[in-house]
Amino acid sequence: MKKCDHFKDLLLTDYIDGELDKDLAGSLESHLLDCGDCRAFLKEVKNNAALPFTQARHQPVPAELWDSIRQNIEHENQATDPMGDFIEKLKGLVVFPRLVPVFASLVIMFLAGSVTLNTIHVQQAKDKNQGEYLVSLLEPTGALTPSDSSDSGTPIEHYFL
Ligand SMILES: [Zn+2]
Repeated sequence: MKKCDHFKDLLLTDYIDGELDKDLAGSLESHLLDCGDCRAFLKEVKNNAALPFTQARHQPVPAELWDSIRQNIEHENQATDPMGDFIEKLKGLVVFPRLVPVFASLVIMFLAGSVTLNTIHVQQAKDKNQGEYLVSLLEPTGALTPSDSSDSGTPIEHYFL
């Protein structure tokens, strides 16, 4: 009976799926020739167990089932497969180069802006220098004017007096 239980296990699993080892399949089929009980079991399995499976294969699989399967596979890949992390990192690197042109353009804008600011600063410095030059031209006269007036006033006063 233990032998029959073993073959019945095989009948329920690998033999139905066609994945049974050739030696096991040979011993199973030779046992089936000798054992009417296991033949009846195989017939019962084919009628009751295998038939619904073959019918189910022609039925459309619900999308929710595919989603759950896909999520399980992706979850397993992320948990066990180091290539999953590597691919995620690659995706991050793929996203980053897309930002590089933006960054580069920002740098160019910044450099152009700083250059423009520098030229403005130079222009302002020139203006300031010119202004200081003008002030320096005016200041001595302004500083001299009172002394001039006082000095010139004195000679004038001396002249008129
Ligand atoms: Zn048997």
